[in-house]
Amino acid sequence: MKIITRFAPSPTGYLHIGNIRTALYSWLFARKNNGKFILRIENTDFKRSNNIFIKNIIKTLKWLKIDWDEGPYLQSEKLNRYNNIINIMLNNGNAYKCYCSKEEFKKNKFQQNITKNNIKYNCKCRNNKTIISNNKPYTVKLHIPKNKNITFIDTIRGKITFKKNILEDFIIKRSNGIPTYNFCVVIDDWDMKITHVIRGEEHINNTPKQIHIINAIKALIPSYTHVSVITDTLGKKISKRDNNFDILKYKEDGYLPHAILNYILRLGWSYGNKEIFSLEEMKKLFNLKNLNKSSSIFTIKKLNWLNRYYLNKLSEKDMINYLKKFFDKKDINVNNGPKLKDLYKIFYKRCNTLSEISNLCKIFYTNPNYNKNLVIKKYLNNNTKIILHLFLKNINTIKIWSIKNIDYILKKILFKLNINFKEIAMTIRLAITGRENTPPINNILYLIGKKKTTHHIKNAINFIKFNNF
Ligand code: GLU
Repeated sequence: MKIITRFAPSPTGYLHIGNIRTALYSWLFARKNNGKFILRIENTDFKRSNNIFIKNIIKTLKWLKIDWDEGPYLQSEKLNRYNNIINIMLNNGNAYKCYCSKEEFKKNKFQQNITKNNIKYNCKCRNNKTIISNNKPYTVKLHIPKNKNITFIDTIRGKITFKKNILEDFIIKRSNGIPTYNFCVVIDDWDMKITHVIRGEEHINNTPKQIHIINAIKALIPSYTHVSVITDTLGKKISKRDNNFDILKYKEDGYLPHAILNYILRLGWSYGNKEIFSLEEMKKLFNLKNLNKSSSIFTIKKLNWLNRYYLNKLSEKDMINYLKKFFDKKDINVNNGPKLKDLYKIFYKRCNTLSEISNLCKIFYTNPNYNKNLVIKKYLNNNTKIILHLFLKNINTIKIWSIKNIDYILKKILFKLNINFKEIAMTIRLAITGRENTPPINNILYLIGKKKTTHHIKNAINFIKFNNF
C-alpha cells in the first residue's frame, strides 16, 4: 500500500508552529515511507478564508522546504464534485433535506430535551418523505444510523469510542448551497486516497462525524493520528489569531528554516535523547509511535539554542549573502566600512539570530542613534565628558591603528582618572554605537577605524553639549 498523507490547512490565519508541526509530521511520514504528500487548502468557509493566508501557507512551506507532490488543491474548486455526491446520498437515503429554520429546530429540540432526558434530537424532516417543491430554503443532513457506536484507533491515544447517542444528524450542506467542512474533508481524503490523517487534537471530535460520512459513502477509514496541542509558557493553547507564532515572522527575525524544523520536530516527538537532526535523519528516523500524548510547551529559549547551533554551522557564503540582503533592504552601503566577512566572525558566536548579527554589524556602517533615556538615566555622569575629550585627544596621537595601541590609550585614561574599565568601556561604547551591549570595545574600535571613531566621539560630545546634560 502506498502511504499518502496530506496537509489541509484552512486559510483563515497565518500558519503557526502547531500547523507546521502537522505539516512536518505528515510530510516526514510520507517521505520516510516513499509515499506521497499532498497540499490541500480547505477554503469552503468563504467568510473567514482569505487569499492572503493561502499565499502565506505556500510561502511558509517553501521557506521551510517542505515540498508537496500534488496540489495545492482548493476545495472551493470542487463544489460540483461535493454536490454530486450529496445528490447521490439524497437519492439513496443516506441524507435528507431539512426545512426547519434554526429557530424552529432549536425550539423543538429544547422541548424534546426537557421531556426526553437530553436524548439527541433529530427533526421531523428525517422521516418526511413528502417532497416540498416550493423554494423554501433547506440544509442537507446526514442520516446517522441509530444504535451505532463509532470506534476508531488513534495512533497516539489508542481506541477512542463515541457512544451511539452522542451525535444527532448533522448538516453536510448549508442552506447557501455550500457543503460543510466535515463533508469536504471526507470526500477529499477519499478522492486523494489518503491513507494516514495526521492532524491536531482539536479534530478528535470531528472524527466520528467524518466516519459516519465515510460509512455512508462506503469509503475506507484512514489511519488517524491526532497530535497533542502546543501551549505557550503560561499554558495557553497557541492559535492562528496570535501573530507571535506566525512562522514567517521567525524568518524576518533571522531564524534559519532548518532550526525551526528541528525545533518543531522535537516539540511532541522524540528519539531517545537526540536533539539535533539533519534533514536526512528526520526523514529516516521519524515515526508515529514516538509521538507524545501530552501537550508540548513552546519555549523561545530552546529555539534560540537550536538556531545558534545552526548559525554556527552556516557557511561563510550563506552568512554573507544573508547580511548583504539585510543591508540592501535597509539601503545601507557596506562598502564604506569593514568587510562583512571580517565582521560577522566576531559576533556570530554570541548571537541567537541572523538579525541580531545584522544589527550588530550595522554599527559599522551607520551613525549611532543615541537614546536619550538610556544615556541620561543610566550612564551619564561627571566623568563622561572628561573621558570623551581625553579619548579624542589620545586617539589623535595614535599613528598605527591597532588593538594594542587602542588598549594602551584606554588604560592610560583609566589610570589618569582613576576609574574602572567598565566605566570607560561603556562611555566609549555608547558614543560609538549608541548601544549598551556589543562585543569587546577594542575590537569594535579597531574595525570601525580611526576616522569614524573620531567622528562619532565628536558627535557624542556635541550631543551632550546640545542637550545641556
Ligand atoms: N482544515 C483543518 C484545519 O486547518 C484541518 C483538517 C484536517 O486536517 O482534517 O485545522
